[in-house]
Amino acid sequence: FKGVTPADITPIPDRYYPPFSNESLTVDHRANATFVILARNSDIDGTVRSIREIEDRFNRRFRYPYVFLNEESFSDDFKKRVSVLSAAKMEFGTIPRDHWYQPSSIDEKKADAGRNRMVEQGIIYGGSLSYRNMCRFNSGFFFRHPLMEKYRWYWRIEPDVHFHCDIRFDPFAYMEENNKVYAFTIAMYEFEKTIPSLWSHVKDFIKLHPEYLAKDNAMRFLSDTGGDTYNLCHFWSNFEIADMSFWRGEAYTKFFEYLDDKGGFYYERWGDAPVHSIAAALFAPASQIQFFDQIGYEHNPYTHCPRNEDTWKEEKCTCDPKRNFDYDGYSCMKQSAHSANARNA
Ligand code: GDP
Ligand code: MN
Repeated sequence: FKGVTPADITPIPDRYYPPFSNESLTVDHRANATFVILARNSDIDGTVRSIREIEDRFNRRFRYPYVFLNEESFSDDFKKRVSVLSAAKMEFGTIPRDHWYQPSSIDEKKADAGRNRMVEQGIIYGGSLSYRNMCRFNSGFFFRHPLMEKYRWYWRIEPDVHFHCDIRFDPFAYMEENNKVYAFTIAMYEFEKTIPSLWSHVKDFIKLHPEYLAKDNAMRFLSDTGGDTYNLCHFWSNFEIADMSFWRGEAYTKFFEYLDDKGGFYYERWGDAPVHSIAAALFAPASQIQFFDQIGYEHNPYTHCPRNEDTWKEEKCTCDPKRNFDYDGYSCMKQSAHSANARNA
């Protein structure tokens, strides 16, 4: 091995570069919107892969900005490695302590007992405190972070997810113009043992505040018994495109405060997915919930692959339509067929 000195790295002459640039693909982004990525410094590799895919499939044309959030400050290495991936603006924020850590109002003995019980039951993340902090933060705080305040719309992205198809339309503009509040690609059943008391608190809240229930809401997505019992269906919130004015509004603010006061984010292991989903399904009319068949999306182990074959072909999808989670017995798509927009799918 001779080694390679810098002198050996000869530049490729300009004439080998055809006249094509990212700039020529750029369209003005229209909505007041941002990507939001919650990540640890150790999530850098997966974060880079996710951004690379959303840039290639969508954002190299639209250039929506990014907000990265973390309870610790982002390392220079993290910032450097994501910064090279997009021409869009990127901002890096630290989460205020009281938006992340277990509040002092929580009885730590009781929380500890709850975690131990879930470990014994073999529940995923059952013993994890940081996972609970994350779920509570995603439920009630990300949209209140100072870097997020200036935006109305967000698209949540996680490390190591996949975008399988070109996305040549602007989902934010579509949602804004069509009066949508919340969009999903995958819906499924929650593990009941993570939320044993959640539905009874939801029912109590509704009794206290019947005025927040939307007319023509999507209760049928959540309940097969007219609201008596929860069927565990929820939108898989690792993908979310939504209107933060909904989370910032009175109904959701009161709802989150009510649930947070019950302590179930720590005594149990309430996820942001059921909390967001229940609120969207009850406090917004079903017609404002959007299913995006067009967005091929994968978060291990599940994939939504467009059902529409023209979309799959025209958008050059890399997913296998036969493995679409929509048709899985564990999918709640059959339930979401009750909500108005899914009928359009
Ligand atoms: P899962 O999808 O339910 O298996 O949970 P993940 O481990 O993917 O976490 C969900 C999101 O929260 C991802 O974007 C993670 O990067 C992020 N996340 C999870 N735990 C932490 C944490 O302790 N700190 C930070 N900053 N981000 C976290
Ligand atoms: Mn994840």
